[in-house]
Amino acid sequence: MKNFSLLIKPASADCNLNCTYCFYLEKCSLYGESARHRMSDKVLEQVIESYLKTDQSVYSFGWQGGEPTLMGLPFFKKVVDLQMRHGKKGASVANGLQTNATLIDAEFASHLAKYHFLLGCSLDGPAELHDRYRTNHIGDPTHSNVIQGINHLNNAGVSYNILVLVSRANVAHAREIYRYLTNEGYYYHQYIPCVEFDKAGNPMPFSITGAEWGRFLCELFDEWYQKDTHKVSIRHFDALLSKIVDGVDNVCTLGKNCCQYFVVEYNGDVYPCDFFVDQQLKLGNIMTTSWSEMANSTLYRNFGVRKSKWNQFCEHCDCLDLCSGDCLKHRAYAGHPADHLSHLCEGWKQFIHHSRERLNILAGKIKDERDRDFRRSDPASNEIIRGKRVGRNALCPCGSGLKYKKCCGRSN
Ligand code: SF4
Ligand code: SF4
Ligand code: SF4
Repeated sequence: MKNFSLLIKPASADCNLNCTYCFYLEKCSLYGESARHRMSDKVLEQVIESYLKTDQSVYSFGWQGGEPTLMGLPFFKKVVDLQMRHGKKGASVANGLQTNATLIDAEFASHLAKYHFLLGCSLDGPAELHDRYRTNHIGDPTHSNVIQGINHLNNAGVSYNILVLVSRANVAHAREIYRYLTNEGYYYHQYIPCVEFDKAGNPMPFSITGAEWGRFLCELFDEWYQKDTHKVSIRHFDALLSKIVDGVDNVCTLGKNCCQYFVVEYNGDVYPCDFFVDQQLKLGNIMTTSWSEMANSTLYRNFGVRKSKWNQFCEHCDCLDLCSGDCLKHRAYAGHPADHLSHLCEGWKQFIHHSRERLNILAGKIKDERDRDFRRSDPASNEIIRGKRVGRNALCPCGSGLKYKKCCGRSN
């Protein structure tokens, strides 16, 4: 079975906030809107134990929601205990937690730091942009609560990325958001386009258009490229560079197949993707179905191959190598087939044309730096894999984010 990661929703779609654009809140209807959804100890142990029994180079647990911190600190203590109890000796276990950060206090942050959780914190820019859509259930703004949570993370030494949802509220402010984040000392960014449709396939009022997305990315890239390429990490730009330099797709949207990970809902139900938690795509339940049964199911495989059934325009497009037809979420909405052209096509094209030359320059510099590092290092401590020599302390070319000696090189 191919390596896979887990995205687990221990509190389902429950959240202490009520952001206008939230795509997951409506999933409450799948499991009863009035109920309180919490993963039981039994389901938690089964998820952790069964996953740790599979063979992976890294066991990657992503805790998400809704808001996963609603589970409270004792739940995340239990997570670590179970991982230690069921993990094989020497196994690499990685925990990620995507959160609105508003429930994180000093004690919670200290646990996350101790066990090296990597966090993704949602912050849509300065208060006047963030608070337009990111409000709580009585409509109050949340920016100051998020900053308070992030301050606890800083004090405890937790590593985190800032996740910016690019919506109608902030799409015209790429430079302002970027400068705000870097001035605050936030150097790891992820920008996600807000694209949601009603049942008839019309974009929701907070959604952005392809042209707006293109302008946002171009402005962001120009700002970053000027002086920050060594200081600030922007996930999509990093992913494009990995693709150009190593041919590795380290975000699923750049790949050719959507069999990338499994979503586990609070009751153990399993789905193929965060954006496709639908009854028709339920792959099984972890209490009764094995990972290999789900991975080998026709339902999962058929879902995966839809990614490369892109539009005929993509086939002849000079951006296909850096776009891969875009995410299915922006294509197969409101009953459209997978070969429907992406809602963001115009934006991807504009951005790739705008940045390709400079991405290639950066890719060339990365290769030169690697060669220099390699020449400086002890040749006896290097391995040759897939025709390329890799330093034992260099990042593994499989894209795991681990040093080569701790990943694919560990058995050599
Ligand atoms: S914080 Fe996240 S999960 Fe909660 S309502 Fe906002 S977008 Fe949805
Ligand atoms: S549908 Fe989009 S988010 Fe889901 S696995 Fe495919 S590319 Fe990734
Ligand atoms: S830019 Fe548009 S046409 Fe080109 S590959 Fe991407 S989605 Fe397809």
